[in-house]
Amino acid sequence: MERITADTPLSDFPGVGPARQRALAKLGLERVGDLLRFYPRAYEDRTRVFPVAAAPIDTPVCVEAMVAQPPRLSRIRRGLDLVKTRAVDDTGAMELTFFNQPYLQRSLQRGESYIFYGKMELVGGRRQMTNPVLERPGRRRATGRILPRYPLTAGVSNYLLVDLAQAAVEHGLDSLEETLPAAVRERFHLPGIQEACAQIHFPDSFAALDAARARLAFEELFYLTAGLSLLRKRRERGRGVALNAGSVPAFQALLPFPLTGAQRRVMDQCAADLCAGPPMNRLVQGDVGSGKTAIAAFCLWRAAKSGAQGALMAPTELLAQQHYQTLRAMLEPDGVAVGLLTGSQTPAEKRAIKTALAAGELQVVVGTHALLSRGVDFRDLALAVVDEQHRFGVGQRSALAGKGTSPHLLVLSATPIPRTLALILYGDLDVSVLDQLPPGRRAVETYLVSDRYHQRLYAFLDKLVAQGRQGYIVCPAVEEDPEEGDSTLKSVEQYAQYLSQEVFPHLRVAFVHGRMKARDKEAVMAAFAGGEVQILVSTTVVEVGVDVPNAAFMVVENADRFGLSQLHQLRGRVGRGKHQSYCVLVSNTRDPETRGRLKTLCATTDGFQIAEADLKARGPGDFFGQRQHGLPTLRLADLNADMRLLSAAQRAAQDLLAQDPDLQAPEHQPVLRRVREIFQEDPDIFN
Ligand code: ADP
Ligand code: MG
Repeated sequence: MERITADTPLSDFPGVGPARQRALAKLGLERVGDLLRFYPRAYEDRTRVFPVAAAPIDTPVCVEAMVAQPPRLSRIRRGLDLVKTRAVDDTGAMELTFFNQPYLQRSLQRGESYIFYGKMELVGGRRQMTNPVLERPGRRRATGRILPRYPLTAGVSNYLLVDLAQAAVEHGLDSLEETLPAAVRERFHLPGIQEACAQIHFPDSFAALDAARARLAFEELFYLTAGLSLLRKRRERGRGVALNAGSVPAFQALLPFPLTGAQRRVMDQCAADLCAGPPMNRLVQGDVGSGKTAIAAFCLWRAAKSGAQGALMAPTELLAQQHYQTLRAMLEPDGVAVGLLTGSQTPAEKRAIKTALAAGELQVVVGTHALLSRGVDFRDLALAVVDEQHRFGVGQRSALAGKGTSPHLLVLSATPIPRTLALILYGDLDVSVLDQLPPGRRAVETYLVSDRYHQRLYAFLDKLVAQGRQGYIVCPAVEEDPEEGDSTLKSVEQYAQYLSQEVFPHLRVAFVHGRMKARDKEAVMAAFAGGEVQILVSTTVVEVGVDVPNAAFMVVENADRFGLSQLHQLRGRVGRGKHQSYCVLVSNTRDPETRGRLKTLCATTDGFQIAEADLKARGPGDFFGQRQHGLPTLRLADLNADMRLLSAAQRAAQDLLAQDPDLQAPEHQPVLRRVREIFQEDPDIFN
């Protein structure tokens, strides 16, 4: 092979043919250099080799011993072979059992010594290992070191990755550029990038591993917080237009209900922001149903009254449509022109809206991400509002703001995020909390039942409908998925058909799901909101924001398939009017942990408490995995475990930006490059 570098394709390596190459590509691995940032998910401690009697019990260890019996092969049944033998040393003996490795009967030699790595168990006073891996003492590859375990995929073994990573570390480290400033590394005692990378793959010791991990996690958090601060600093340097017209009491006069104290307080905070000077940069966090739309309406109204324009972006067509109607009802009587822009409109409709926006004939526009498209230009966009912001990336948020010159920014979120995480997730925003629900709301009664209760449940729904109520039945999947092979999985269309024909022939049952055309979805939702449809069978498309006050029940089938926060969002679709509402979680799971999780929902309606429970059960990895935040992925940093690291990284980033607010100094160019790389969803946001 020619000289190996970071650019060498992995297919140059012996044993990597086209099939393996494809499998490796699935893991994102094409060249030697890719492996450097492909971090192990765990490590095997094979540093010490124990005598049989001294090996700790019930933890994986290396034990050197001699095979003392000819291995015996027995076939238990088709597809299940056992090889059994005994190995001994001066201190004792252990039984060895291997499943489905019949070749070991021949290759394990009596009288030869091996190093066995596996979990030592003590059963009835005897030591035993099941399925240990083994190697000959003379040909140690894995023994005597801390061995990385990589995430795998079909056709890629850990051994293969260890070999390739070894080559990467031997030949590719030079390609890694040190991007953390030396001062930061010194201050926080962090190893250099090359050292850290070598040690994260092949640690010399667990102390070295900790240091390497800390450095790489610090780096992720540092660039994340630096990126967010940079965004914020840039926005703060702009001058917002003063949106002074219109007081909270004057706005109250436009509403059919009295504002809650919390709403008034948050409106005051927004009003204070909406002055000349740095533009508003505010997140309004409030549980489902707390009335965030009114806050958005207030700010948009002020923009219009002050002679400027405002835009509200929502994550789904359904929600955009609904906000459009709400805002029209509130604002048009006061002479504010409101428009709607979504992807499903006809080209002619879109053109009309765009023209009106550019001419300033529309003061307020509501839309989906269609608002971000090219050709959508405002005459004078002074305020950008993003609803359910966790559905959008930081980049999209900025892109909407980019449609104006330093417009004020308001983002609304119902995702209750524990305070510790909010610190980083919203590092670039001021936060207001709507901590009060409108009066007269009764907590949604929530129950967990099994499949067997379906008949009773249907009878109950029948009764509620007879009282004039409506409700949702949510199922996890759109189509029967043959691969899942789970016949109990309710499919929306089939289930709706069954319900309307067999169970509720006297009611109007309809369905919506994400694969329907936007127009069809809208028509169904409009019929539901108008009270023509009594039972709406749906997927989670109704999860965000939709508001039908007469909806008083929410049934979730196969509830165990949803995360807690998601169930809480779903439940938030009911209990929005004056009627007692019910949420019934249907699940046949026996798993005590899952049941416990679902019971949390029955016990509380506090979104923050539920988010904490969710975070505990699923970990922030999952929280981050689902990208409920619109931030770049973190590979190593664990926001629960790494709080100290997080505040250190944040401090370092702030200090750096205080020194060099635009990262213009030549020695900070690597930092700027890295920040841009990390926020690559939208590389332009830092230009
Ligand atoms: P969310 O915070 O989940 O976005 P919405 O803004 O959709 O909540 O409001 C939920 C419901 O509560 C809507 O029907 C809205 O009209 C109503 N609402 C909002 N504020 C009040 C209030 N102060 N008093 C009574 N009802 C209110
Ligand atoms: Mg909302």
